[in-house]
Amino acid sequence: MDPTETPVRAVRDVGPSTIALDLEPPAGFAARPGQFVKLSLDVGSERRSRFYTLSSPDAADALEVTVEINPDGDLGPHLAELESGATLTMAGPFGNAYYEDEPHTVILAGGPGVGPAVGIAERTLDDGGETAIVYRDGEPAHRERLDALSERGAHVAIVGADEELTPPVERALAGERRDGSEADDRQLFVYGFADFLDAATDAVAAAGGDPDRAKVENFG
Ligand SMILES: Cc1cc2nc3c(=O)[nH]c(=O)nc-3n(C[C@H](O)[C@H](O)[C@H](O)COP(=O)(O)OP(=O)(O)OC[C@H]3O[C@@H](n4cnc5c(N)ncnc54)[C@H](O)[C@@H]3O)c2cc1C
Repeated sequence: MDPTETPVRAVRDVGPSTIALDLEPPAGFAARPGQFVKLSLDVGSERRSRFYTLSSPDAADALEVTVEINPDGDLGPHLAELESGATLTMAGPFGNAYYEDEPHTVILAGGPGVGPAVGIAERTLDDGGETAIVYRDGEPAHRERLDALSERGAHVAIVGADEELTPPVERALAGERRDGSEADDRQLFVYGFADFLDAATDAVAAAGGDPDRAKVENFG
C-alpha cells in the first residue's frame, strides 16, 4: 500500500513506557500478525518515520501496533502524545517473518517484540492451534493479554532482563502436543532488537532447536 493518511482511533498504555496505537485500517488494507508498517509523523517541519510491527491478531477491522517509548527517542514520545482523531501516514505491510497459518507457533520476544508475540499467539489460538511465548523484559508490558492467553491454554513464560533464556526456551520447545502426537510442526518466531536476537538464537541452539528454521525480525 502506498503511504496513506491513517486516523488514530486510540492510544492506550499497555505497560511501563509502552503504548498500543489503534489505527483505522485503510480500505483494502490486509496484513498478517508479524508483518510491520512504516509510520510517519510530522514533528515541527521534519517528517520522522519508523517501523512498527502488528500486535493485533489481524488487521481487517482493527489494526494495532505496540510501541516501547524511549523518552529521548525521535518519534516514540510524539506517538505517545497523539490523541484519538489525529492522523499519521502509514505504508506497508512489509516483512517476511509473519504468521502463515502454522498450527503450532513458538514466539521468542524481547522488549517491544511482545507486540507481534501477543498478536501471533492470539491468532494461532483463534485458528485452533497451539502456541507458546517466551518474553524477556525487565518491565513487562501487555500483562492482561498474556494472562488471557495463558488462561486460553498458551504456554507463557516471562523472563527478567538478566535471567537465562535457555531453560524457558527449552521448556517452550519441549511442550507436549495437546493431541499427544510426536509431530514437530512448531514454527519458531523471534522478534526484538539485535542484542535479544543474538541471545535468543543462542538459546534455541543450546536447547536443541534449529535457529535457521526460525522466522526472525530485527528491530535494529
Ligand atoms: C522491522 C522493524 C520492526 C519494528 N517493530 C517495532 C515494534 O513493533 N515496536 C517498537 O517499539 N519498535 C519497533 N521497531 C523499532 C522502531 O522502528 C524504532 O527504532 C524505535 O521505536 C525507536 O524509535 P525512536 O524514534 O522513538 O527512537 P530513536 O531516536 O530512533 O532511538 C532511541 C531509542 O530507541 C531504542 N533503540 C533503538 N535502537 C535500538 C537497539 N538497537 N537496541 C535497543 N534499543 C534500541 C533505544 O531505547 C534508543 O535509545 C521496529 C524496527 C524495525 C526495523
